[in-house]
Amino acid sequence: MVCLICSEGAYDWNMSKTLGTAVEVPPYNRLGVNYHQAPPRKVSGPIIDAHMHAHNVQWTGRFLQAADDYGISAFWTMTPLEDVDALRTAFPGRFEFIAIPKWQDMNSTGEFVEDWQRRVEGFYEKGARLIKFHMAPRTQKKLGATLDHPAVRGIMRRAYELGYHFMSHVGDPKAWFGPGKAYSPQDGHRSFEEQFPMLDRMLEDFPDRVHVGAHMGGCVEDLEQLQRRLDRFPNYLLDTSATKWVVRAIAAQPSEVVRDFILRNQDRLLFGSDLVVGEKHPYDHYASRYWVHQKLWETDYRGESPIADPDTPGGAPLLTGLNLPADVLEKLYRGNAQKWLYEKVLGRCFRFPVPIPESGPAPTATMAACKAPVPELTPRA
Ligand SMILES: [Zn+2]
Repeated sequence: MVCLICSEGAYDWNMSKTLGTAVEVPPYNRLGVNYHQAPPRKVSGPIIDAHMHAHNVQWTGRFLQAADDYGISAFWTMTPLEDVDALRTAFPGRFEFIAIPKWQDMNSTGEFVEDWQRRVEGFYEKGARLIKFHMAPRTQKKLGATLDHPAVRGIMRRAYELGYHFMSHVGDPKAWFGPGKAYSPQDGHRSFEEQFPMLDRMLEDFPDRVHVGAHMGGCVEDLEQLQRRLDRFPNYLLDTSATKWVVRAIAAQPSEVVRDFILRNQDRLLFGSDLVVGEKHPYDHYASRYWVHQKLWETDYRGESPIADPDTPGGAPLLTGLNLPADVLEKLYRGNAQKWLYEKVLGRCFRFPVPIPESGPAPTATMAACKAPVPELTPRA
């Protein structure tokens, strides 16, 4: 399965390359890491992955084996409406759903927009309260629209009336923009910088809702711009998803600058992977993302990344750990999700999934601080 809407996960598994003789190096493990041995965590407690893509129950079960080993307990997923009930029944309490259109049918016709409208209502009935607007350059081209288009604005307004909060994917890796690149001006694409005014207009128009900026707001290469947006819009959050992109951009900047940015915005960051569940993905593919994120946030690792990255400018992809303090990790992994996603978006507390994953530790003080109601869950039969 090729993901049309992800910045992570779509290009990996069929890109194995043969080095020298007959040694096959999988793109998720160019260093031969034993991912089954998850490194010890710097802080204990359940981790919430605020950005991933699950669907088929059987494939999702395989994904969860890796997630359990890395202490990832709950997920906010962009799942097709048709798969929501099955996932909820198979894995009670583990998945919260983000409203999305039927991306594979995306085009500029009224039919697509009408189907999207129906899905906004359908997801709402199933309890979703966060809606995703994907407006990367390639989406703009397929859809023939931007976030400013009246049809898209109509969907936003209806979602707002229903009480939805918003997630947005704006921009894409800066390396993909420019002459001769995926997003060249010759093909009618606007520049990296020109992607963001439409986002600012959306944030201006719905200031009282939570806004999750996917993939570090699409702007991890320009932290100054990102800081201005965070300062201007107090309900704007960032998720850390898209492993290769985020790892590459962080390694390319001075660690102190990135670390200062993270510390300054420690209440506005949600941990996310952007993992896409797929039929052919092995355990190691999933584990590699969680392993790399753990090294990135929790350690002072300095070296090569085990994940191949075709966008690395020359040579090996680098991974630069930020060694964040324990209290910041606590917020990144669960405290901010509790406060923003569970309390503000869903109006309830995070409830530890049933059954508790074997490797899952008990809820921490941050989780217990939630004052909203805790839902009952029906355990899996
Ligand atoms: Zn995604």
